[in-house]
Amino acid sequence: MRKSSEADLRGHASRIVFTLREAGFQAYLVGGCVRDELMGNAPKDYDVATSALPQQVLALFPDSGTVGAHFGVVLVRAGRAQVEVATFRSDAGYSDGRHPDAVSFELTPRKDALRRDFTINAVFLDPFTGEVLDFVGGRNDMRDAVIRAIGDPRARFEEDRLRMLRAVRFAARFGFDIEPGTLHAIREMRALIHTVAAERIRDELFRILTEGQARRGFQLLDECGLLAEILPEVKAFQGVEQPPEFHPEGDVWTHVMLMLEQMGKAGTHLALGVLLHDAGKPATFRVADRIRFDGHVEKGVEIARGILSRFRCSGDQMDSVTALVANHMRFMDVPKMKPSTLKRFLRLPDFEDHLELHRLDCLSSNRDLRTYHHVREILGQMPAEVLRPEPLLTGRDLIEAGFPPGPQFKKVLRAVEDAQLDGSIRTKEEALQLVRSLN
Ligand code: ATP
Ligand code: MG
Repeated sequence: MRKSSEADLRGHASRIVFTLREAGFQAYLVGGCVRDELMGNAPKDYDVATSALPQQVLALFPDSGTVGAHFGVVLVRAGRAQVEVATFRSDAGYSDGRHPDAVSFELTPRKDALRRDFTINAVFLDPFTGEVLDFVGGRNDMRDAVIRAIGDPRARFEEDRLRMLRAVRFAARFGFDIEPGTLHAIREMRALIHTVAAERIRDELFRILTEGQARRGFQLLDECGLLAEILPEVKAFQGVEQPPEFHPEGDVWTHVMLMLEQMGKAGTHLALGVLLHDAGKPATFRVADRIRFDGHVEKGVEIARGILSRFRCSGDQMDSVTALVANHMRFMDVPKMKPSTLKRFLRLPDFEDHLELHRLDCLSSNRDLRTYHHVREILGQMPAEVLRPEPLLTGRDLIEAGFPPGPQFKKVLRAVEDAQLDGSIRTKEEALQLVRSLN
């Protein structure tokens, strides 16, 4: 069953096709939405391709946006969503390996199919009759579960190098193979990925990580050589042995791949936390009484920071992901934490992500989930007012009690809150007594 918003969107896209045809133009659904419908998945968004020129599209849908009109794309509003209506076109040369130098509009869909990236993404569909226009063998490749570049794969990756990552993303998402010629071309051209803007690489990479098939995505990235190019820090996990008593599964790479597999669909922060939580291990590996990784957490935070700044991630993203790396070993200490330490730990922003990372970490190593269940139980039982009680004292109270305001207030108030969280004080009077004893 389609959700009603998807049905609305399809209805809207179909009406756009109808209106264009009434006005004498050709028009079809095209691209990802056709691929998804033919493969029995629910499309996220709908694209329409037409022989009408952008100005003619705009004339038929006066309140639409013109964002990409010079590239032949008009955004036609559909309630809160939008349908992209693109004029049939061919791209004339890509001298920078990123953007077409110019586009020329075409009167028929054939050339428009040929400028698209993969055969499964280049099929046209008549939304009313179900008639399919397939100039590139896209339906066969859907049936055979293959990602195949349209035309000469080398030339197509030369035009737009990001397509190399898109090939991996679609292959991972659908569980398809990359056709051997296409895979071979990626292997040969992998180093050209560095000419693509970091933000575009990041967006593809994060989608590969979060769409639910991250393990397969990373194995494909490795197979085609892109992993070593864009994430050498992760490639370095391979062959880093771990103590078998804690990690019977094998090396760091195997451990992280197992975690990605168990993770399924995930938010970006959690997915990056999983990928990078042990990033400090290759650099800190040493053999003492057993294999040890002293300082791997701190090193991992540093490496994660380096990767995320290379990908121009926001400060918030950086803080959330590095917090996951920084805290992942603290679960081991939970059984011996003082109540105040434990409560502060449970109060970490987005604690659910920390806990899920821990669960995946255990499931993919020694499978000991005792701490996980213990923490779940505490979270389920501890009332909010015990976890985050109203403070017994504020800065204002301290001033009223005659303490001169200053930088030590913060430390004093923290000590008071610790005592409150530990249950050793319960009232404002006891809190003030404690403050006096501290001075
Ligand atoms: P998704 O489900 O991830 O949105 P999609 O196939 O809809 O997949 P989009 O990025 O939304 O992908 O692009 C829509 C269509 O535009 C694609 O199906 C493809 O035909 C074409 N396209 C997108 N990016 C490229 C590219 N870099 N090179 C060639 N064609 C592209
Ligand atoms: Mg799309």
